[in-house]
Amino acid sequence: IAALGAVSRMSTAAADASPARGSPPAVRNLIGGEFVESRADSFVDVVNPATQEVVSRIPLTTDEEFKSAVHAAKRAFPAWRNTPITARQRIMFKLQELIRRDMDKLALSITTEQGKTLKDAQGDVFRGLEVVEHACGMATLQMGEFVSNVSHGIDTYSIREPLGVCAGICPFNFPAMIPLWMFPVAVTCGNTFVLKPSEKDPGAAMMLAELAMEAGLPDGVLNIVHGTTGTVNNICDDDNIKAISFVGSNTAGMHIYGRASSKGKRVQSNMGAKNHAIIMPDASVDATLNALVAAGFGAAGQRCMALSTAVFVGDSKPWEDELIKRAKTLKVNAGIEPGTDLGPVISRQAKERICRLIQSGVDSGARLVLDGRNIVVPSYEDGNFVGPTILSDVTANMKCYEEEIFGPVLLCMQADSLEEAIKIINENKYGNGASIFTTSGASARKFQNEIEAGQVGINVPIPVPLPFFSFTGSKASFAGDLNFYGKAGVQFYTQIKTVTQQWKDLPSQGVSLAMPTSQ
Ligand code: NAD
Repeated sequence: IAALGAVSRMSTAAADASPARGSPPAVRNLIGGEFVESRADSFVDVVNPATQEVVSRIPLTTDEEFKSAVHAAKRAFPAWRNTPITARQRIMFKLQELIRRDMDKLALSITTEQGKTLKDAQGDVFRGLEVVEHACGMATLQMGEFVSNVSHGIDTYSIREPLGVCAGICPFNFPAMIPLWMFPVAVTCGNTFVLKPSEKDPGAAMMLAELAMEAGLPDGVLNIVHGTTGTVNNICDDDNIKAISFVGSNTAGMHIYGRASSKGKRVQSNMGAKNHAIIMPDASVDATLNALVAAGFGAAGQRCMALSTAVFVGDSKPWEDELIKRAKTLKVNAGIEPGTDLGPVISRQAKERICRLIQSGVDSGARLVLDGRNIVVPSYEDGNFVGPTILSDVTANMKCYEEEIFGPVLLCMQADSLEEAIKIINENKYGNGASIFTTSGASARKFQNEIEAGQVGINVPIPVPLPFFSFTGSKASFAGDLNFYGKAGVQFYTQIKTVTQQWKDLPSQGVSLAMPTSQ
């Protein structure tokens, strides 16, 4: 375990090279191209959730350090925005190659700090890598429009220009993918960036920053500051920052959305979820049950696209027994161990909260048909493990249904018809994603048209769109109007400018004060 901690730590550039004997290394900030040790007097431990080993500690960046990161980004902006788009893209081409080269190291860091299995950690990196690949085509993505001769001798065209300094605030559950949703798109559009990784697992973001520098990103284009609420508030308040990308909980997201947009900033805020699956009695039994188990318990339920509620329609209700059987076969262990299906949840507090919500379900009348609360994992007795848990006969008024659990807990509900199932989902405040499992095209089409969720799966459990589309959560799962990555992502990080030009060699027609028209 100790060896694992040592191997997975970031390079000495990104972390304190010579920590006091026995003390964990302090993660550095990245300011103006330099990995610098913070002068902070408060730090937060980064803890391996399978062992409680302190892997490193992040500083609560001081206000002065924060300002110097923003100034570094501001200083780097004029030269970077004037760097040819082809040169900016070429850095992304190189970055994707380096991410592939270091995929295993990145995955090991994620498993150590976040807990998910190595294979799942590779998926985390890969889904971010795809955004970098997409950013390689930024010239085409950022193209403006041109209409010739809107009036005699007059043309109008639009240009997408970078905003300036942008910032990103990340959650713990995808330590590589989510930073990669943000800075590659922003910087390839010509912006400079200040990133705040999650205080719980900053390692992957630091490695990615090192790779971005190795790929040729100039000093100051990407900066990293560590911290928690104080740093986030500094990001919201700083007038030099023009746009904020946030992914995380509703509490933080709505706070950031309100505080930063009142200062005139653009904000895109991806937040919590309660993703439902409707199981129609005509669905293919085996494939549906496998999908429910994978999407309900994968990553220990700590995905914003986890399926946390299954709504069984009519005769599909008895499938629950087989679902329980399959969930029981999953192996709970440290993410580093071969053959593990579910790793630990992120923290002791997260485990306590999950267990409390399970108990509240029981107390309000749900049946606990699979209980993962008391699991003990040999050799990892201190880990924050929760085994697969299934609560049956859940109803919409229960706290375990109203709140996002964010753990390996699947809630089962019942409906008599597709209409009733759709109504249940539409009444839920979240709108990240929803799926239907059916062999009926008519049911699938009805679901697609009537469901109020931003990302819809048809016989697919986790519909996270690839980067040529956007991540389109809706209702309480998103605040803002331009989503992450895809065309909307490019629009978010650019300001559109419309130019009308007149080049003609005609005799003067004198002065007219009437509104110009093309009649
Ligand atoms: P979190 O909100 O606790 O933390 C996210 C970030 O916000 C961190 O960087 C943290 O330092 C900061 N933060 C936390 N509380 C804050 C506060 N009160 N004020 C200001 N800043 C604050 O979220 P988390 O626990 O790291 O991540 C899990 C949550 O993220 C879940 O709700 C999950 O659904 C959501 N999530 C959503 C998506 C999506 O795309 N919709 C993707 C991943 C995760």
